[in-house]
Amino acid sequence: MKAVIALTCGCSSEEGRYYVREAYVRCIEAAGGIPLLVPPLEDQGDIQHLLRSVDGVLLPGGVDIDPIHFGEEPMEGLGTIEPHWDRLELAAARFALASDLPILGICRGVQVLNVAAGGSLYQDIASQTKGKCLQHSQKAPRWYATHSIKIEPNSLLGEMLGTKTARVNSHHHQAVKIPAPGFKVTAASADGIIECIESEKHRFACGVQWHPELMVEHYPEQMEIFR
Ligand code: MN
Repeated sequence: MKAVIALTCGCSSEEGRYYVREAYVRCIEAAGGIPLLVPPLEDQGDIQHLLRSVDGVLLPGGVDIDPIHFGEEPMEGLGTIEPHWDRLELAAARFALASDLPILGICRGVQVLNVAAGGSLYQDIASQTKGKCLQHSQKAPRWYATHSIKIEPNSLLGEMLGTKTARVNSHHHQAVKIPAPGFKVTAASADGIIECIESEKHRFACGVQWHPELMVEHYPEQMEIFR
């Protein structure tokens, strides 16, 4: 039986539409799963009802998270926020954590996972580190691995990639600041920015700050994250 994976939809309030990027659908399929697209819904109970019938959750990349969810006022460097998108994914992440449903967060997704579990974010890495950071919004092609990460050996990520260092692409200006209680940092870039967190008490609750779905064609080992 193939695993059914809930894939949360993004929102564009401006355009009045919900959307997913093709690459996430392809990667779930290539890993042997069936993606089920989940849009924002009015009734939070409906989201939980839906998630009771799936085998896992994938939170994709996207816009910034409203800092109200980690108790901060918006800084100058904060980008676009979509309140309905936040509400959907925070509900989905909290349900997954409460019921030990496997959950993978990618880019915005690792940030949502961390906030849902009680952690905080850099709203804008460059201004909050006073420019003492690497280029995390790369200008290279989207798939190309531009910076390195160090990986904790005793970790899910270490098992998945089978290596202590890797190079990854980077398309983010926010990042995990304080990891949520019960989560450990299992990869960071050379400037100390957190690139992967994992729960210590769940079967699989893991988030990566890069975009493996854009890398798989050129770096096939990244497919292990979806498997
Ligand atoms: Mn990065």
